Amino acid sequence: MTVKCTTVLMMDNLYETRSTSRILDSTDVIHAFYVPSQLEGTGVAIGAQNIYHEASGAFTGEMSAEMAKSVGCTHVLVGHSERRTLFGETDEVCNVKTRKIIDMGMTAVLCIGETKEEYEAGQVKKICARQLAGALAGIEATEMNKVIIAYEPVWAIGTGLTATPAIAQSVHAGIRDWVRENYGNAVANKIQIQYGGSVKPESVDELMQAPDIDGCLVGGASLNADQFGRIFNYDVAPEGPTRLWAEEVVACGNQLGESPVWSVERQMLYWVDAPSGSLYSWDLKSAPTKVNFGETLGCVALRSNNTLLLGLESGLHAYDPTTKALTFVSEFEAGLNTRPNDGRTDREGNFVIGSYNNAHRVDAQPIGGLWRLPANGGALEEMLDYKFRCSNCICFTKDGGTMFFCDTPTRRIYQFDYNPRTGPSNRRLLYELPSSMNGGPDGAQCDANGNLWAAISGAGQVIRITPRGEVDLTVELPVKQPTSVTFGGPGLNTLFITTRAENGRIDAGSLFACQVFDVAGVPEAEYVDRSPVKGDAVSANIGPVRPGRPGAASAKFCTQCGVAFDKPTARFCAQCGTARR
Ligand SMILES: [Zn+2]
Repeated sequence: MTVKCTTVLMMDNLYETRSTSRILDSTDVIHAFYVPSQLEGTGVAIGAQNIYHEASGAFTGEMSAEMAKSVGCTHVLVGHSERRTLFGETDEVCNVKTRKIIDMGMTAVLCIGETKEEYEAGQVKKICARQLAGALAGIEATEMNKVIIAYEPVWAIGTGLTATPAIAQSVHAGIRDWVRENYGNAVANKIQIQYGGSVKPESVDELMQAPDIDGCLVGGASLNADQFGRIFNYDVAPEGPTRLWAEEVVACGNQLGESPVWSVERQMLYWVDAPSGSLYSWDLKSAPTKVNFGETLGCVALRSNNTLLLGLESGLHAYDPTTKALTFVSEFEAGLNTRPNDGRTDREGNFVIGSYNNAHRVDAQPIGGLWRLPANGGALEEMLDYKFRCSNCICFTKDGGTMFFCDTPTRRIYQFDYNPRTGPSNRRLLYELPSSMNGGPDGAQCDANGNLWAAISGAGQVIRITPRGEVDLTVELPVKQPTSVTFGGPGLNTLFITTRAENGRIDAGSLFACQVFDVAGVPEAEYVDRSPVKGDAVSANIGPVRPGRPGAASAKFCTQCGVAFDKPTARFCAQCGTARR
């Protein structure tokens, strides 16, 4: 049985499908209510939907594990959502049954998942952890080869609400993290985690691409032989863009995370939470820290001599993270109801920054400008001959000769020829969001091959746009509003993604990341100004960031060298060999 092809069919559905020999011949695990002898030799296993934990006694109506085994069952469901909600089965009951199933030499298919209320309260991973800890109490690591975990988001079953594959993947990754923390790497690598949230022919291909979804627990769709056959024969390599899956790495709870930049020299990631005016710093090994500036902070850029340039509402400032000194550099659109938004340094060390009309959602007025702060100081110079509402996507190709820019509400990303002395020219459309896609282009970053990686806020995706304007890769997020991206990590091959808060999702506003395998980023240029940062030290609210989910970050990055683990099941750091925690 390979990890990626275990399909569990509920036993009451076998009557509908058992005559379809193609399915039975090729299905690994089927839950059957009785033993069809013709299954012998097919590789199909038989399971039960439920057992009672007592071997014998006056328990009218119950079926013992012994009875299930006597008719050939090798697998038994435990804790299905209907058992939990309709029959009141608690984690303790699930624990007793799991113990019994394992003692009988059978495999427990342990179903976990949260209700709609729990989902909306942002308790998904907490509820799953509680159910796992309850049902698996006393189960040893050596017994975990007799456990399959099936995640069912109860709220997504028969309600019309959908758990996107990215949401399912993020929960599965959290489940695997829980198994790793409680049973170690070997068990986490081997455990099968199946998805059971209304798997359909239309959704199975995408679901099965997710790295932590090892199989499906098929419900209603298994009542129809054609549908189940299609699900079983899912497409292992569907057409369309390559998919990557981002994972939460810092539960920082940002209102509006933005402006991630990676310093190669410092091996440090910076990003901001704009409305709260917070600057985050993270070396990927220890806990991130933050400093609060008490006013809106639109963006951060690297500056000479290990200092930073900040786009604060009160203007551009230089900041020294070592001394905490903050000094004023330039006003920004004084007198306009705007603030600094997206900004990046060009390859020659000039800082390019765009504006955000604070009222653009109400008045739709294009009043903002795109500006350049010349290297070594001086007055801001306007770079475009038109105004706009909300600047985004600003970044530069490796050779510095192309600049990307968008006014988010237009949903169009433009590229310009870029000359660091004279600015942008020759505007042309690179990409316009199709009408089928929600949201708008937000922050972006360019890779070493000239592809643009653009966060599409509202679509829950980062898209990679080739120089020819084609999307050849997407990064899927469990949250809807990614806001900006950059490459970082020792190999510049981790894509970091900031996000915005949403109601009902505790991970919205977190920092996400994914590994990129076919291209790396370009080292971020520093704004050139070697003058020391003088001025008073910022004193307010400096300290470590308390992670919402302890260990979320360290489970993804080597605590020794900071390199991201190259796959969900990695046991050792590929870079330095340090064992995963
Ligand atoms: Zn390492």
